[in-house]
Amino acid sequence: MLDQTPKEILERKALRINPLKTCQPVGALYAALGVRKCMPHSHGSQGCVSYHRTFLTRHFKEPAVASSSSFTEGASVFGGGANLRSSVKNIFDLYDPDIVAVHTTCLSETIGDDLNAYILEMEIPDDKLVVHCNTPSYVGSHIHGHANMVAGFIKYLADKRAPKNDKVGVFPGFINPGDIRELKRLLGLMGVDYIMLPDQSGVMDGPMTGVYEMFPEGGTTIDEIRALGGAKGALALGEFCSTEPALALKTKCGVDSKVMPLPFGVSQTDSFLMALSEISGRPIPKELEDERGRLIDLMLDANPYFYGRRCAIFGDPDTVLGLASLALELGLKPKYVITGTPGEAFEKKAQALLESFGEAEGAKVKAAGDLFDLHQWIKNDPIDLLIGTSYGKQLAKAESLPFVRAGFPILDRYGHAYQALIGYEGALKLAVKIADAIMDRLDMDCADEDLELVM
Ligand code: SF4
Repeated sequence: MLDQTPKEILERKALRINPLKTCQPVGALYAALGVRKCMPHSHGSQGCVSYHRTFLTRHFKEPAVASSSSFTEGASVFGGGANLRSSVKNIFDLYDPDIVAVHTTCLSETIGDDLNAYILEMEIPDDKLVVHCNTPSYVGSHIHGHANMVAGFIKYLADKRAPKNDKVGVFPGFINPGDIRELKRLLGLMGVDYIMLPDQSGVMDGPMTGVYEMFPEGGTTIDEIRALGGAKGALALGEFCSTEPALALKTKCGVDSKVMPLPFGVSQTDSFLMALSEISGRPIPKELEDERGRLIDLMLDANPYFYGRRCAIFGDPDTVLGLASLALELGLKPKYVITGTPGEAFEKKAQALLESFGEAEGAKVKAAGDLFDLHQWIKNDPIDLLIGTSYGKQLAKAESLPFVRAGFPILDRYGHAYQALIGYEGALKLAVKIADAIMDRLDMDCADEDLELVM
C-alpha cells in the first residue's frame, strides 16, 4: 500500500501525509467524558462532532456521547449564540446531565463566537452547570484540546475557598482507562487520598450489563473538582497534556502542582512514586518494590533480544517520550522518535532523553511530523521494530517490520484501552509484547535447524 513512498526526501512545508494527530475537540470530548454526568458539547456543525465521536468510539469500542450546536448557514453568518442557547436547554430537558462541557470547533472559532458571554447570558437551571473551553483545531492537536478542557473545568469549578483537605490532585493526561485504573491502584497501594481529573475509567471501559446508561457511574464528580481548590498539591502527568491544568489550578486556587512525565518504564515510575511519597508523606510499600524487582528481572532475562535493536516510536508526545524512556531502559536504540503534535519542547526533551542514554548520535527526533517522514527515514536507514498506533500498520507491512501497538488510537485491535502501559506492571506487559514481537520475527526468519524451543 505504501510501496510507492520515495526514498528521496524533499522539503515539505504545507502538506501533511498520513498525519500523526487529530483535532483539538477530540481531546476535549474525551476529557469531558471523564467527568460524572457530563454531556460534552461541540459548538459547531454536526459533521465535526460526528467525526470526533466516531474516532473515539473506534478506539474505545464504546459509545462516545456528545451533542452539537448543529450550525447551519445562518449560525455561520450571524453567530452561534441562539444555537447554543437552544442546545443547552434541549440537553438538560432531554438527557438531564449535571453539567454541559462546551468546546469550540474551527467554524465557531473562525467566526469569533464569544462563549464566555453566551454562557453568562444564558438561562441555566439552578442545579446545573455549563462550562467551556476554546479548541481551535487549526492549532495544536487533540492533546491541546484535552489540556484545554481539563483547564476549563478547573477555571469554572475549582473553589479557592474549599476547605483544606488531605487530598492530592492527579491530572493523568490523555491516557486509556486501563492506565487510569493502574494509576488508581498505585495510589491505593500508597494509601494516598486523591482527586483524579479527568477519570474515564468506568465510562469508556464500562462493563456490559445489558442496559444502556448514557451517564455511567465513573468520572470525576463536580464536588471533587471544587475540592481541588483545597488540595495539598497536585501531580500533573505528561508535560504536554497536563501543564495547562496545573497552571489553571495555581492561578485560580494557589495550589502547586508538580509537572512530570507520564510514569512509563522504571525511572519515570520511580519518579512518580517518589513525588507521591513526598507530597503525601506516605512510604513506598514493599509490594511496589517487588513489582519493580520483577520488571528488572525480566529486563535482564530478555536483554540479549532487546540490546542494540533499532526501533522507531511514534504517536502522542507524552506517550512517545514515555515509550522512548522504557525502550532505552530495555536496551533498544530508538532511532526515530516522532510526534504529530507541534511544539519544539518535544524535540528538546526527546533529544535530552536520548543523550542521557548516550543514544543521540544518528537518531532523529521530530515534532509536527507525519508517517511519511518516518517512512522515508526508514527507507534510507532501516530499523528492526516499530512501536506506535494503528496508523503504523501499513508502514510495518510495506517494510516488513515487527510492529508493537501502543498509544492512541488503536483502531484495528481489541482490548488496548483496558490495558495499562504505565507503572511497573504496565512496563512489564509492554516489555513482554516487545520481546514477543522481536522473537516471533527471529523464529519466522531463521533456518529450521536454528528454531530453538527454549530460550
Ligand atoms: S472542521 Fe475543525 S473541528 Fe471540525 S473536524 Fe475538521 S478540524 Fe476538527
